[in-house]
Amino acid sequence: MTEENPFESLQSQVDAAASYLDADDDRIERLKHPQRVLNMNLSVEMDDGSMERFRAFRSQYNDDRGPYKGGIRYHPDVNRDEVRALSGWMAFKTAVVDIPFGGGKGGIVLDPDEYSEDELERITRSFAKELRPLVGVDRDIPAPDVNTGQQEMNWIKDTYETLENTTEPGVVTGKDLESGGSAGRVAATGRSVVIAAREAFEYLGKDLEGATVAVQGFGNAGWISAKLIDEMGATVVAVSDSRGAIYREDGLDPATIKSVKRERGSVVEYKAIDETISNEDLLTLDVDLLIPAALENAIDGELAEDVSADVISEAANGPLTPDADEVLADDDVLVIPDILANAGGVTVSYFEWVQNRQRFYWSETRVNDELEDIIVSSFDDVIEAYEENDTPNLRTAAYVVAMGRILRSFDERGNWP
Ligand code: GLU
Repeated sequence: MTEENPFESLQSQVDAAASYLDADDDRIERLKHPQRVLNMNLSVEMDDGSMERFRAFRSQYNDDRGPYKGGIRYHPDVNRDEVRALSGWMAFKTAVVDIPFGGGKGGIVLDPDEYSEDELERITRSFAKELRPLVGVDRDIPAPDVNTGQQEMNWIKDTYETLENTTEPGVVTGKDLESGGSAGRVAATGRSVVIAAREAFEYLGKDLEGATVAVQGFGNAGWISAKLIDEMGATVVAVSDSRGAIYREDGLDPATIKSVKRERGSVVEYKAIDETISNEDLLTLDVDLLIPAALENAIDGELAEDVSADVISEAANGPLTPDADEVLADDDVLVIPDILANAGGVTVSYFEWVQNRQRFYWSETRVNDELEDIIVSSFDDVIEAYEENDTPNLRTAAYVVAMGRILRSFDERGNWP
């Protein structure tokens, strides 16, 4: 794990793609900064009657192609630069899958394990109240991210609707079904991670059936990726969470591990394994496919030297540093970048928003079919840019596609004033 500043990583990713685009430096510079960042202080009553202050942020990166869109993260390490980076990755992500949104991200500096359910509800509602001037169904639409899920989104929706005296479920996505959520949203991030991996294997002429897989992180994206890749016939040999990793050569059953984690707090409590290993050991296992599904900077340049996987599908945002990218490109590891691989989450958020606005709800089959179409065609767009421009890796190709779309929409509209 390295201390690389994610915002600097984002800026260097933009710079790497700029040389393949016919755009002057000023227009590229504009894509290297958020349009607006709000710093918030939430004062929330605790169960014992005391009042605690929480720092929170929302970064609105770019809205050239539509309303700002992106999740809200609860984590003790949340900081302004991380949120700025994550909001930028959202702007390029929505552009690479060509959905009519920009990019945003928010976070609260908070370890959710330290608070009761009632306290988390008051913290979330307080955040929604402070966010009120920024958000709106056509302005900025939050969603889940690390340590947030349907419950938090339901609270945000309810707080907004109460304050505005309206019903507007599309103001936030990732809600429970009865609160206006979409079928297929919870699984969508993991689903795109494995669809992208399947396309990459096909591109390389490799068989996914029987391929070995290691998954770092067992939150929503990691667990669903493990489950779906197992269903596709691959063998998940290692999974991890913040407490460590487990390895079994003959394969692990993701559903069993999920119930162990739910009941006993961690994947390392599962005992029918060959050995317990560290998260770093997991990342360097000799597997066909590696799925980093934890946090930023999981693999730096040094660790990348030891990576043995053939394909990496990024379920997390920003799991590889720019140095790691360079090493892996030299070693011919095919990395499917976060802004493509994990874009299923925001894509189904878009479907949820469309359904909310039409008050007409789709079947899960329709959601999954439309998601499949978007991820496959986006993968093809990125491969085309990769081959046409001879970029060093798929990440730079994905930025070429995304930045090209954002720049065109900016140019078509014109700069004002
Ligand atoms: N937090 C997810 C991401 O990083 C989903 C964002 C959304 O659905 O708006 O892509």
